[in-house]
Amino acid sequence: MGYDDEYREWVKHLERSNRALQRIIREYDRRVTKKRDRPLCGAMTRAGIPCQARAVWDTDKDKPRNGRCRMHGGLSTGPRTPEGKRRSLDALARAVQARRG
Ligand SMILES: [Zn+2]
Repeated sequence: MGYDDEYREWVKHLERSNRALQRIIREYDRRVTKKRDRPLCGAMTRAGIPCQARAVWDTDKDKPRNGRCRMHGGLSTGPRTPEGKRRSLDALARAVQARRG
């Protein structure tokens, strides 16, 4: 196979993967609420006005994770399992211990 053939194969491959990608994006767009239609965070800012950023979105469930934006706790809601809470408290205890020396 010459260089031209390999090149054409490569272009064909790229076109195929691009079409697959476009299909995935179209499906995502149909399935998930648009960013401008999502609720605002609303946390009180230091400026004294409610935060205007959009809440962090769970795209699998198409609903907000906990109603807050990425700056106001939307990314993490902390440990959920008893084991995770346990580990978190252990780490806190170690940190306090280390500070006391
Ligand atoms: Zn916010």
